Amino acid sequence: DSAVTAEFVAGDGDIEASLRPTSLDDFIGQPRVREQLQLVLAGAKLRGGTPDHVLLSGPPGLGKTSMAMIIAAELGTALRLTSGPALERAGDLAAMLSNLVEGDVLFIDEIHRIARPAEEMLYLAMEDFRVDVVVGKGPGATSIPLEVAPFTLVGATTRSGALTGPLRDRFGFTAHMDFYDPPELQRILLRSAGILGVQLGAEASKEIAGRSRGTPRIANRLLRRVRDYADVRADGIITRDIARAALAVYDVDQLGLDRLDRAVLSALVRSFGGGPVGVSTLAVAVGEEPSTVEEVCEPFLVRAGMIARTPRGRVATAAAWEQLGLTAPPEAAA
Ligand code: ADP
Repeated sequence: DSAVTAEFVAGDGDIEASLRPTSLDDFIGQPRVREQLQLVLAGAKLRGGTPDHVLLSGPPGLGKTSMAMIIAAELGTALRLTSGPALERAGDLAAMLSNLVEGDVLFIDEIHRIARPAEEMLYLAMEDFRVDVVVGKGPGATSIPLEVAPFTLVGATTRSGALTGPLRDRFGFTAHMDFYDPPELQRILLRSAGILGVQLGAEASKEIAGRSRGTPRIANRLLRRVRDYADVRADGIITRDIARAALAVYDVDQLGLDRLDRAVLSALVRSFGGGPVGVSTLAVAVGEEPSTVEEVCEPFLVRAGMIARTPRGRVATAAAWEQLGLTAPPEAAA
């Protein structure tokens, strides 16, 4: 049975790829972003040109890469993938740009981490579809202009605030992807279960959705872990009780907070008396990069009403104290 063999061979990474939505209609949630993008793409198609450059911002796992792939698929063009950290030298970008074919979509993930010389080259490429390649060093250096085929840049970032003004201004359309609500995650889970051939009940999907941190990638990951449990300890069918039991084994709490979320909350409350405390201090306390705490943990904890960002630093809300089983001091924010 080839399906069974594929199951055995496919790692989680391949499974994740198989769960990606492939068209705008297939994409669940983000209704505004979808409608706006649909117009951007349809307008360009109507006029027979390449669409404006698109910036997608939002926390990890919300579908930015999937959306970039969908943009290329909807346009019927190829997608070239790279990332900000991979473009360390302007030459890396020049090579990438000179290989583009008219209409291609160039996807740059983590575009806020692009090195300055590459970023400056990108300005010209985005605006005029050309680059100036500098050859040689010192007084003998010459700059050779190179044509670039008209393309659409899709940039993804977890920190749109970290983008320089000139780069941000060159995107014709910026979409902010927000966390998904539980009913949307439930639909994503049921769709994924269909693709994976897993029997997932409605109540069970609700249970998993509620603990997915508003994030499709996490929802799909939890589904795979619950499936393991259902296959190994039960008859493979995911009921609400099976989902609950499995999530308990993996330490996923009611809100879906993960280890780092809990560590941040605990440090904020236990070590810093609920704050205010600066994000870098908080990051040191949990042994993480400040950017991880700021871009991965905080957006969800803020959205979940656990922490508040104030000019003086991060502050734990009363809900955060309660989450840790502690009594909030009277001055804690509601
Ligand atoms: P990002 O680039 O924002 O980190 P991805 O596009 O890589 O996120 O999405 C992570 C995973 O989540 C994908 O493999 C896909 O399975 C799933 N996913 C994301 N958004 C959706 C969606 N709207 N509908 C269904 N699945 C989604």
